[in-house]
Amino acid sequence: MAHRGYNVPVRRPGFSRLAALAASFISGMLVMALPALHDASADPPRSRESRAAGHCVRQKPQPFMIRGNYLPHPRLHARSLRYRVEEYGRLEGIGPSTNPHPVTHYLEHTTFLGLPIHIHRRIIPAMRCVEADLQHSCRRSPYQAKAIGGYRDYNSYRQGEVTNHLFGIAIDIDPQDNPCCGCVDPWPDNPRCKGPAASVYQRMAMPECWVKVFEKYGFYWLGHDQLQDTMHFEFLGNPDRLGR
Ligand SMILES: [Zn+2]
Repeated sequence: MAHRGYNVPVRRPGFSRLAALAASFISGMLVMALPALHDASADPPRSRESRAAGHCVRQKPQPFMIRGNYLPHPRLHARSLRYRVEEYGRLEGIGPSTNPHPVTHYLEHTTFLGLPIHIHRRIIPAMRCVEADLQHSCRRSPYQAKAIGGYRDYNSYRQGEVTNHLFGIAIDIDPQDNPCCGCVDPWPDNPRCKGPAASVYQRMAMPECWVKVFEKYGFYWLGHDQLQDTMHFEFLGNPDRLGR
């Protein structure tokens, strides 16, 4: 959402054999380097993940959390911000302080779609369900994510809005291939944003099937928003239903 100067955290090389070999070497080095970067005590308990994978909770985004619903209504906007603080942690200088911990207290380093990500630990069970379901439901429209982003420590919105990346509950997938055609410059210059399109799904490389799978587990796709932010999913379901 309004991804100014998007900072791609991890990028997978292209398809050449040499690049593939290099990628495998680099990922090996990353794995070796991980213990130094990684607080193992912050890892999600295995039992919780496998429980979630075995019993995936299907749910819809909560309507008051959807950007297009709360933006025209200041009180609803304030309610969604208060809810996010209470459920996911407080932010420095933004919104109420009604959580004993900052968002950073709840973040974890994990992997998603085979790529490292920094994300709020409460939504990891839903991410595992998406991963498993993608393999099953989207076999006929294969797609490999090359670059993903999760938690971000700066707000990319203006005029009082607060991005869900600040709460660690938003995920971007391949920004260059799945652009935000309604965002600020230079996004509208992306070739996928030019010319007519029968639907917003034609503005991106990611298959529509992926959107449908994310939406089963409480994620909202910002491609539905006037921003047409096709790279962006955010968890707007009820995190209590995912377990603690
Ligand atoms: Zn985003």
